[in-house]
Amino acid sequence: MARQRGPGPDDYLPASGVLDWTDPKRHWAQRPRPCRFCKGPTCLRDEGGRPSHKTCAEAHRARKQAHAEQAYEQRARRADQRELDAHTRQERIDEDADRSGRGPGARRRPGRGRL
Ligand SMILES: [Zn+2]
Repeated sequence: MARQRGPGPDDYLPASGVLDWTDPKRHWAQRPRPCRFCKGPTCLRDEGGRPSHKTCAEAHRARKQAHAEQAYEQRARRADQRELDAHTRQERIDEDADRSGRGPGARRRPGRGRL
């Protein structure tokens, strides 16, 4: 019978950065087995029932999360950069238009005015 598993238990790390493995029925086994991360013996089990030190699981998830956040940030930064580039290009066009007299930029910035 298939064991029921939540969506990506490995990806889950609470905001505190500390897992709650206080339920011995879920996270404690009588017989020690090698931790899936450091291979050291442990009686602890993760959400998937795999032997794992709590600290190892936390470190693993923190790393994974940091990686995911980094990837997300990089994507966001690239999008920002694209927008910035487009904006900068537009400003340059406006400036050129200003310099050469009555361009589209002259009309598009009404009353930015004095301080
Ligand atoms: Zn370990």
